[in-house]
Amino acid sequence: MPYCCSAVQRVSSAQTALVEVYMSPYSTVVLAADLTEESTLLAKRMRQIVGDSPCAVHIVHVIEPLSSAYGGDVPMDLSPVQDQIQDQAKTHLAEFGLQLGVPEAHQHLIFGRPQSEIQRVAEECEADLIVVGSHTRSGLARLLGSTANGVMDSAPCDVLAVHVGEG
Ligand code: AMP
Repeated sequence: MPYCCSAVQRVSSAQTALVEVYMSPYSTVVLAADLTEESTLLAKRMRQIVGDSPCAVHIVHVIEPLSSAYGGDVPMDLSPVQDQIQDQAKTHLAEFGLQLGVPEAHQHLIFGRPQSEIQRVAEECEADLIVVGSHTRSGLARLLGSTANGVMDSAPCDVLAVHVGEG
């Protein structure tokens, strides 16, 4: 019986040592969140990669201006709609940040093109990892390209493209 106990103790202390030596190579992570339920999966994968290592996490959500999408095609003032979209995004980003324990100063709500703004925030934060969702695409959607591909082409650091289903 004493043998059993000491063997168990040896195994458990070896396991503890293995857990203790794991240090993520990443110190600053930018998570690109479109604020759909897919963002929760990205956050889960990020945690699996980073573990409990000390790491600064930034969340970036980009709002594409309606004016650039519709230009002069819509003969009406789009600013009230744009304000509403911004308010909702702000609320959702704050909720998501709270769930992840990411402080307000690390929650970035930006107007522009997702691909270029994600890259810009990553450069500004000196990120060493960007986490982005990646969809399986076919046909025209494949030809048009994806945010993940665009980010990977121009990223200043490693990119974790998390498969999030069909696009
Ligand atoms: P997409 O290529 O547009 O299907 O988007 C794939 C991934 O790009 C998402 O899972 C997000 O990680 C990121 N992404 C897309 N749109 C945005 C956005 N507006 N703001 C931040 N990240 C985005």
